[in-house]
Amino acid sequence: MCTDRMARVAGLTDIFAIGHVALISNDPDYPKGHPQIAQPAIQMGKKLAANLSALVRNESLQPFKYFDKGDMAIIGRTKAMADLFKLRVHISGPLGLIIWLFIHLLSLVSFRNKFITLYDWVTAYISKDKSLRMIFRTEKHQP
Ligand SMILES: Cc1cc2nc3c(=O)[nH]c(=O)nc-3n(C[C@H](O)[C@H](O)[C@H](O)COP(=O)(O)OP(=O)(O)OC[C@H]3O[C@@H](n4cnc5c(N)ncnc54)[C@H](O)[C@@H]3O)c2cc1C
Repeated sequence: MCTDRMARVAGLTDIFAIGHVALISNDPDYPKGHPQIAQPAIQMGKKLAANLSALVRNESLQPFKYFDKGDMAIIGRTKAMADLFKLRVHISGPLGLIIWLFIHLLSLVSFRNKFITLYDWVTAYISKDKSLRMIFRTEKHQP
């Protein structure tokens, strides 16, 4: 749904949308909307939380501005790339993979989640698990 930069759904004043369900239509830096990745959703969430607090205090709402931290992608079993714009750094290869792992683990909430995710990654890496991660239903289970 279309929202303004304060995350208000078009035509409404007290309904907000963020993340994948939102398309901010009036950001001149992103006229076609923000990338459909986690960072814009996280940053929109933080901005909306701050704006809802401001609303309670009768203060004015601040527009969302996306801060692009960079791009990362895994490109093989032992390689990844990381473009960290803020640091003006481009890293690839095994070091890129280590940075990819480290940054993704850091952003998970709680030590338990970090540990379980790391365990899953290590076991998948060792077992070379490439199983198709799709759920199929047989006909008799169809609703
Ligand atoms: C396979 C895959 C890989 C990806 N890899 C990356 C990546 O490497 N890097 C990256 O930055 N982004 C990646 N993304 C994109 C990233 O996951 C999304 O950009 C991000 O999750 C969007 O956040 P969101 O909060 O908008 O939506 P979501 O994370 O989808 O959260 C929506 C939540 O709402 C819940 N929900 C839905 N309907 C209802 C309802 N009716 N009532 C209550 N709750 C409901 C859902 O269960 C879900 O928990 C990937 C996405 C996919 C699918």
